[in-house]
Amino acid sequence: MKQARPVASEPRLEIAHPLIGEEEKRAVLAVLESGQLAQGPVVAAFEDAFARWLGVKHAVAVASGTAGLHLALLAHGIGEGDEVVTAPFTFIASANSVLFARATPVFADVQAGNFCIDPARVEVAITPRTRAILPVHLYGHPAPMAELGEIARRHGLLLIEDACQAHGATVHGRKVGALGHTAVFSLYPTKNMTSGEGGFVTTDDPAIASAIRTLRQHGEGERYHHEVLGYNFRMTDVAAAIGLAQLARLDGFNAARRHHAQILSAGLAGAAGLAVPGESSSYGHVYHQYTVRVEAGRDGLRKRLDARGIGTGVYYPIPIHHQPVYVERGYGGQSFPTAERLAQEVLSLPVHPALSDADLQRIVRSVREELAG
Ligand SMILES: *Cc1c(COP(=O)(O)O)cnc(C)c1O
Repeated sequence: MKQARPVASEPRLEIAHPLIGEEEKRAVLAVLESGQLAQGPVVAAFEDAFARWLGVKHAVAVASGTAGLHLALLAHGIGEGDEVVTAPFTFIASANSVLFARATPVFADVQAGNFCIDPARVEVAITPRTRAILPVHLYGHPAPMAELGEIARRHGLLLIEDACQAHGATVHGRKVGALGHTAVFSLYPTKNMTSGEGGFVTTDDPAIASAIRTLRQHGEGERYHHEVLGYNFRMTDVAAAIGLAQLARLDGFNAARRHHAQILSAGLAGAAGLAVPGESSSYGHVYHQYTVRVEAGRDGLRKRLDARGIGTGVYYPIPIHHQPVYVERGYGGQSFPTAERLAQEVLSLPVHPALSDADLQRIVRSVREELAG
């Protein structure tokens, strides 16, 4: 009997696929054989290499992006009674880090066109208690940093970038992570580069870098002299070995992501009921995610693609102010219409560097066929 769709022979395409090669394996083995597994010389080498790649004076390695955001806020002295303006449409860690610092997240809605925080909404969210703006470069698209920088200057606020999804993204040719006072990157396996788990806090300010180094190591100045309440948020040399090898490949990974996004956008342009992500000449997008908006029936489309062996993602199905942990803190009655609408419409398609051009054509064909019914 003939099958309706000859898909059985086609491999499944996952939404993320970290590329770990011989260089990563060799580097990890060398660390294992060195006998020094925790934070040591490989972490220090990774910090130097990342700072050089980004073009900042200091990159401090930490255990995760979440730990980095938490420490960045603490290092800037943000705490009880302070407000930090951030987006309600992002990974939960962006806002949670403010709660970890015992400060108050204040949400400002995002722009539908680029999924990032809307400067006009930021402006009206500022109060006398506001200390910082925490924009997120969501999906690898830079937040509107020129406008946000101007607002921060005018109100005397800190600008702390959540660059966890945006290694290599640029604004007017300048890399994000070097545009505010301090920035944070994640090295989780789905991100544009990985160390397994890990993160970086980047800054040109030596006092902030020094505070992060103290806080990640139990608040220790001199050995066993604990000056402030600190944490164990160190990166291991095992992780740093993976990360160093990945950093050498990052620009190539990003070029592949951009090439893949072009194929998807060319193939999907004009598809009824679907909007492809926008790109403008001022912003260098690194497509951590390739995210379309589906006018209606997003979840059904997602199921049908899954049945055809195409994994997709919904980042994020619930805006932060509607998450139970925030409803419990009194945010449930607030309204951020764009974030709420995007949570219903967004669908991320595979764009990672392990895909072939033929895989991408298959994704385009499948989405078009399933949209048509
Ligand atoms: C991944 C991510 C984080 C947290 O990074 P982890 O390394 O997973 O702790 C924070 N913010 C955003 C926007 C992220 O995507």
